[in-house]
This record gives sequence, C-alpha cells and structure tokens, in this order.
Amino acid sequence: MVDFSVLAMPGVQALRPYEPGKPVATLERELGIRDVVKLASNENPLGPSPRAVAAIQAALDDLHIYPDGNSFALKEALANRHGLAPEQVILGNGSNEVLELVARTWLGQGRNAVFSQHAFAVYPLVVQAVSAEGRAADALPADAAQPFGHDLDAMFARVDADTRVVFVANPNNPTGTWVSAGALERFLAQVPAETLVVVDEAYAEYVEATDYPDTTQWVQRFPNLLVTRTFSKIHGLAGLRLGYAVSSSGVAELLNRVRQPFNVNSLAQTAGLAALADAEHVAESVRVNREGLAQVAAALGERSLEFIPSVGNFITFDVRQPPGPVYERLLHQGVIVRPVANYGLPTHLRVTIGTRGENDRFLAALDHALKA
Ligand SMILES: *Cc1c(COP(=O)(O)O)cnc(C)c1O
Repeated sequence: MVDFSVLAMPGVQALRPYEPGKPVATLERELGIRDVVKLASNENPLGPSPRAVAAIQAALDDLHIYPDGNSFALKEALANRHGLAPEQVILGNGSNEVLELVARTWLGQGRNAVFSQHAFAVYPLVVQAVSAEGRAADALPADAAQPFGHDLDAMFARVDADTRVVFVANPNNPTGTWVSAGALERFLAQVPAETLVVVDEAYAEYVEATDYPDTTQWVQRFPNLLVTRTFSKIHGLAGLRLGYAVSSSGVAELLNRVRQPFNVNSLAQTAGLAALADAEHVAESVRVNREGLAQVAAALGERSLEFIPSVGNFITFDVRQPPGPVYERLLHQGVIVRPVANYGLPTHLRVTIGTRGENDRFLAALDHALKA
C-alpha cells in the first residue's frame, strides 16, 4: 500500500484542517432536537440584506452563464466606496480565499510569515499549506489593556529577511481586541518595504472605537499594505462566500494572476452589489450588535465571568474550567458556541452576539451549563 501522506508536501503532512462551528442541521440530527441557535461562527443574526436576496432571485435565470471573471460592476462599486481604482480591488471566494492567494503568491519553503499568538486560525493554515514557516509572536498578557491582543513590537521582532507576509487581524478573532491607528501606522513604517502587511478587517464595520483606523485609506501611502474585508459578517452573506481586498494595483495584479478565473460566482457578485448599497441593513446590524455586546458583557460581569473586551460581533469569555463539558451542555440545550482551545485559550469559549432573544437563550443555557 502506498502511503500518500508521506508523499504530500511537507507542510501538508503536518496540516490539521480548520474546525468550523457546528452547523445547526448537524446538531439537530445528532441530538434529535429542534430550534437550535447557532452563535458559533460570527454570522449576522439579522440574516442577509433583503436587497441582496431580491437581487439573487432576479439573477437566477442566468445561472447557465459564467460569472464575469473580472467582476466589473462589484469591483467598481467597491473602488468607489473606498475612493480607489478598480485595479486596486481583488475579489475572493470569501476573504479566506484572498488570504490563501497571498500565501500562494509570496510564500513557500524557505520563507516565513508572522502573525500573533491567538490570531485567526486561517493564517497558520494557509502558510503551512504552502510549506512556509509560520511564526507566532507572543500576544499581550491577560492583564493588558487589550488582553491577549496583538503585540506589534513582538511581531516586528519576529520579522527577518525571509519574512514575506505579516498578518494583522484588526479586530482579531477570537479575542475581539484591536490595534489603534497610531500603533498600526508606526508598525507599517517600521516593517521592511519588501514585506507585505495583510490587515484583516473582517469586522471593521462593527467597530466604534474612535481611534480605530480604516486602513483602506492607507494603501496609497503603503504599497506593501493589503486590507481584506468580507461580506460574511456585517452583510450577512457568509453562505455565498464573498470577500475582497484593496491594495496597490501591483499587489492586486499579482494576486489576480494566481486566482482561478471564476472564483466569485454570479450570485455572490449580484448580492454583494445590492448588499453594499443597503446602508440600512448595515446600520441596523451595527445597532443590534452594539446593544447585544452590552447585554452579554453585562450579563457575564454579573456572573463574575471574565471576558475579553470585544469590538467585534462576538465575546470570548473564561469559564475557569475545562470548557469541553460546558460546551457539550450548551449543545444539549440547543445552543452552539465555539471552543477556542485551538487558539491557545484553553478555558475560554467564544459566543457570537445574537438578537436580544438569542442572547437571553444563551445566557440561560450558560447558567444551567455552569451549575451542572
Ligand atoms: C470571519 C472572518 C473572516 C471572513 O472569512 P470569509 O472567508 O470572508 O467568510 C476573515 N477573517 C477573520 C478574522 C474572520 O473572523
């Protein structure tokens, strides 16, 4: 018998796949229960933009036609949104694909990428999949102003001549921590011009902190900056897989060489265009999240459960015990949250902010799960 695992590329041999949040249908099937609430993947509790849904319905009759491989209309709309040229926009099958394109374009054996401890799990995966070295810089301590957040100085210290990419999640998932405009600007000025800095802003639209930077406005000043955004979170289109990045046109052009010609399907392009114009849905999503964050943070505080202050649409909290059984007891009450032991947070769980009713349901289930 041929052992194909030893024939795989070195990075792939040691790769452990991403563990997504448990789908509702899976839990309902496993436990024979109904009315499950999923607060495990930072999805929008309000659902998709109704305008996006209508746009998709109107586009269904054209499914036999290949999508526009250049996504002309959506790119133009995104370029307008950020005050950039369409050549500075690259679309992906989720922003996850853009991260992967970055790895395939600049990384491989003998090269490395730097990210933070407790950072989004996709960074080490895309780096390792191309057999490059992933370097995790120690995060800030638990008692810092941004507990478990990115330590940009520690990250800079890990950069060397073979570092082609640095990943900065702002805000970071699963910690919900963020870096300020001043700190990020200093970091970008420090990093060698040959090192691409990827700033992942998947949750940017939720952030209301005053010195949180919109780095899409910095790509003219920093030709080595690439900023990723997604339609999966605030726009509620996670199921369609649509994300994008903005950068200098030179960086975007290289990514376009690597991507497959029809990576973004026609329904995603149509829906993205409609969702982008739906300011009302975005504003309502921000409002519901603001209220929900306050609700859940206050409730965790009342229960003396420490949590990491978050500017995203999720909160990671410490159950001060092995979280596996707590997670399981939540599942049995029909509430799916996210264990984050694989992020180096062995006693924490992450919960997505839902509607008020969903948050109430989670909190009641949590009380039960912690008492048991
Ligand atoms: C959810 C998330 C994304 C978005 O991934 P998509 O592929 O666009 O759905 C990107 N980065 C972070 C940090 C996330 O949490």
